[in-house]
Amino acid sequence: MQITLVQGDITEQDVDAVVNAANSSLLGGGGVDGAIHRRGGPAILEECRKLRASHYGGGLPTGQAVATTGGDLRARWVIHTVGPVYSDTEDRSALLASCYRESLRVADDLGLRSIAFPAVSAGIYGWPMDDAARIAVTTVRSTATLVEDVRFVLFTPDAYRAFERVL
Ligand code: ADP
Repeated sequence: MQITLVQGDITEQDVDAVVNAANSSLLGGGGVDGAIHRRGGPAILEECRKLRASHYGGGLPTGQAVATTGGDLRARWVIHTVGPVYSDTEDRSALLASCYRESLRVADDLGLRSIAFPAVSAGIYGWPMDDAARIAVTTVRSTATLVEDVRFVLFTPDAYRAFERVL
């Protein structure tokens, strides 16, 4: 597996799947979630609504992942995963690691070869970037997968540098 770092906008990536740092409602939100739905168009939300109605009445649980169409994105698929909200008092890093592992498992189920991840939980959910980067990289490296091309797409220079230090 090749891991690469990109500074930029995940919605522009030419990969099989982009991962969305969704919230459990699957009905859209801010940050990368808002960007993916804006650029990907209404087809993504429509599939999210169907998933809520069919499988995830209570919402997608934290640490799990599910795929929808990529709509108008270059990526054919969006893999939605729900990161944990950062806590000072409780170690939730296993849930954050699970987001990366489960996203790769969904990609494997779909037979995908390339995937782009944002820094899950490191925005609105408050996870410190250095620690988020460490968990992201170590988890992806230690996961058995047929995905060959893993890109971490970091929105800010600071996030890019944090991932660079870990790699
Ligand atoms: P969470 O709620 O899981 O914290 P956010 O979307 O708030 O998710 O933030 C996750 C990371 O994604 C943050 O580092 C944020 O800067 C970054 N981000 C926001 N928009 C984009 C984008 N278009 N492409 C890539 N990363 C983005």
